[in-house]
Amino acid sequence: MIDFAIAATGTGVVAGLGYAPALWVKPAPVLPAGADAVVPEEAREDEAARWKAAVETVAGRLGARAAAASGAAAEVLGATAALAGDRGLQRTTLKLITAGSSAEAATVAAMAQFIAKFQNLGGLMAERVTDLGDIRNRLVSELLGLPEPGVPTPESPIILLAEDLAPADTATLDPALIHGIATRLGGPTSHTAIIARQLGIPCVVAAAELAGIDDGAMVLLDGAAGTVVVGADPAAAAAQVKTDAARRTAVQSWQGPGRTRDGAVVELLANVQDGAGARAAAQSPAQGVGLFRTELGFLSAQHEPSVAEQAGIYSEVLAAFPGQKVVIRTLDAGSDKPVPFVVHPVEENPALGVRGIRLGQGDPGLLARQLDAVALAAEQQGVTNAKVMAPMVATIDEARDFAAACRARKLSPGIMVEVPSVALLAEAFLAEVDFMSIGTNDLTQYTMAADRMAPSLAALTDPWQPAVLHLIRSAAAAGVSGAKPVGVCGEAAADPFLACILVGLGLGSLSMAPNAVAAVGLQLESVTLEQCRQAAVAVLRCTSAAEARATARELLYPSTPENFQGVKK
Ligand code: PEP
Ligand code: MG
Repeated sequence: MIDFAIAATGTGVVAGLGYAPALWVKPAPVLPAGADAVVPEEAREDEAARWKAAVETVAGRLGARAAAASGAAAEVLGATAALAGDRGLQRTTLKLITAGSSAEAATVAAMAQFIAKFQNLGGLMAERVTDLGDIRNRLVSELLGLPEPGVPTPESPIILLAEDLAPADTATLDPALIHGIATRLGGPTSHTAIIARQLGIPCVVAAAELAGIDDGAMVLLDGAAGTVVVGADPAAAAAQVKTDAARRTAVQSWQGPGRTRDGAVVELLANVQDGAGARAAAQSPAQGVGLFRTELGFLSAQHEPSVAEQAGIYSEVLAAFPGQKVVIRTLDAGSDKPVPFVVHPVEENPALGVRGIRLGQGDPGLLARQLDAVALAAEQQGVTNAKVMAPMVATIDEARDFAAACRARKLSPGIMVEVPSVALLAEAFLAEVDFMSIGTNDLTQYTMAADRMAPSLAALTDPWQPAVLHLIRSAAAAGVSGAKPVGVCGEAAADPFLACILVGLGLGSLSMAPNAVAAVGLQLESVTLEQCRQAAVAVLRCTSAAEARATARELLYPSTPENFQGVKK
């Protein structure tokens, strides 16, 4: 346990400890005085050429980094490189240059317009704002002949501190030298979090008090607790880091299957978004797919794919886990996941609007065609009773109608527990369907009335909030009394300590990002079912998220490396 002064507390997004001197990311370039002077007409063509050359250089550099990176890093870098060369951005900037702006001033002004546009769109688009700011800074630096802004390349280990990180920064991070990352902004789904997860670098985001930490201060970062500590006793910190290193080594070699130390079975499943993701997940210790987010494959689809096309996509995911559990979720389009072919009116408050199963109000055929496609895919893959799950269910009638539509196609119906109404009346809902899966991301958002995409609300959108835990308990209890499977497929399942609490509450399956499975499995193997139950009872008595988290750590933390090695296979 850490018992020193906590300098900053945020949201821990990648578990692990790092102890090293702090180093801040370099600030963005500042426009020199006179950059806003009007460029004479005869020089404007050259100015445009200068801007185009800068874009080419910056996009080229980002593209080269994308080519050198792999996985999610390559994807986000590639997307940022594409954004740098975006035609709309080009048109807007060149128009400003033609009207007399300098290339630097036009870059800043055009980007400000795009940033405002993305912010207004909200959701996932708003998360790209950091990327746009990053491109602007790189372009301005290039135009001013300054070195690239961004992450320093240290020669010895550091804890990297930043306002927020852009993909171009994070994708080139070297885990051998960057022993931890802490940012003032960002949320659990920001690029910082995604890349840190991929690289396995302990990471804390949304840590508002970071600004008080100076370069060079020795920092102990705890990515599980979400804390950044200054002034830790060096020997004690080194011992904690050593214990954690043993844990991380054990995580790398963990193979599954999921169970507690005394052998209670816990299904550990993967969240995927397409066939490629499912095939990658099949290489992890995941024992199936607990959540296939079908809408994520359609975020840029202008037209609804035909039943046959959809069946092809769903088949790929079923084929990646032959004979194993695969839960296909019907379209959860809307709000932070706009799908172009799903048209519905502009809403004041899209998270509370027409999304998920509610889309059927305007277009009942959409769900019918998707269920037909799932049934076809199941037939093609020889899967009987394929599992299908509806998002955003709020009423028992919705659950009943969905179940009937599934059963008519010989599909096994389930619903997500994302709206508090379902958790409160869990028994009655579960009576209508075959299984339930708790979507803790939305359940937390709707219980706490806090936008899950808002970094400034990260303390509220925390599944350790006592009210959320009590609703989870209600849903879990319905599963036990109704003898039907109830699991979790929100981010909460990926938190090793929270996973133990969920098991202690009676949940039998946990579905998460594939790269989180091993850490959760290892943690579960280090505790008994009874320990999980007792910890769950203790946590339910807590009155704050921080107290709940600390209580669970206290009761479940395997304090010596041996705890990770003595598990009987
Ligand atoms: C959830 O809400 O917890 C969930 C798993 O669904 P999504 O994150 O796709 O909204
Ligand atoms: Mg959800």
